[in-house]
Amino acid sequence: MEEKNVPRSSRRRIVLKISGEGFCPPQERGIVMDSVNRLASQIAEVAASDIEMAIVMGGGNILRGAAFKAANSSIAETTAHYMGMLATLINGLALQDAIEALGQPTRLMTTVRADSVAEPYIRRRATRHLEKGRVVIIAGGTGLPFVTTDTAAAQRALELDADILLKATKVNGVYSDDPEKNPNAVFYDHLSYEEVSVQKLRVMDQEAIAKCAEHGMPVMVFNFRTEGNLLRAAKGEHIGTIISNQASK
Ligand code: UDP
Repeated sequence: MEEKNVPRSSRRRIVLKISGEGFCPPQERGIVMDSVNRLASQIAEVAASDIEMAIVMGGGNILRGAAFKAANSSIAETTAHYMGMLATLINGLALQDAIEALGQPTRLMTTVRADSVAEPYIRRRATRHLEKGRVVIIAGGTGLPFVTTDTAAAQRALELDADILLKATKVNGVYSDDPEKNPNAVFYDHLSYEEVSVQKLRVMDQEAIAKCAEHGMPVMVFNFRTEGNLLRAAKGEHIGTIISNQASK
C-alpha cells in the first residue's frame, strides 16, 4: 500500500545551530565538559517543555577548514573542510553524552558516514526521532566541503519544517560591527534578510541567509551564555535579533 504523506506533529519544532565556541570558555579551544554540560542542561530544559529540537553542531572549537588551510600550505583545502566536518562529529558525541546524562534521550546523526558512532542522517528518520521526543544532534554539516554549518542549519531548518532557526552566539544578537571590539556598534532588534545581505552583516554565511530568505524561514540570533535564554528563545520569545521578511523599524 502506498504511504500517505503524514502531516508533521503540531508541536513547536526548532532547529538550533550551536557553534563550537559554545564548547569551551571564551578564548579557549577544544572541548571543556563544564561548558558542554551547561549547554546540555539548557537543551534538556527545552526538550522537557515539549518542544521538538534538532541541533546542528559546529566544529570551530576544534578546526575550521578555511583557517586551517590558510595556516598549513601542505594540506588541500578540501581535506581541511572534511577535517572540520569530523570535528562536528567529535563535538556531537560529547554533547550527546552530556544531554543523556541528564536523562534526556538523543540521537546523533551524521552526514559523513561514521556507522560505529552515529546514525546516517536521513530526513524521515530524523523527523521520527523528533516526534518521539528525542533531541536530534546533526553532525557533519552538509557533508560537502567549502561551506559551514550555518548553511547546514538553514538546510535542516527547511527540510525538517522548523518553526524557526535559532542561532546561538556569544553576543546578544546582530550588531552593525563586532560589539566585542567596537563599543559603538549598534544592536539590531529586527532585520530583513535583504538588510543582512546588503549591509554584509556577519550573521551567517550569505548562502545560509539566502536559503532562509528564499523560503521565508525566520532566524533568531541570541546569546546562549545567558542562563535560561535557550528556553526563552525556543518558546518563541523575542530575546535577540530576529531576521525575517520584515524590514527593521
Ligand atoms: N564544514 C564543511 N561543510 C559543512 C559544514 C562544515 O566543510 O557543511 C567544515 C568547514 O571547514 C567548517 C568546519 O567544518 O569551517 C567547522 O564548521 P563551522 O566553521 O561551521 O563551525 P562553527 O563555526 O559553527 O563552530
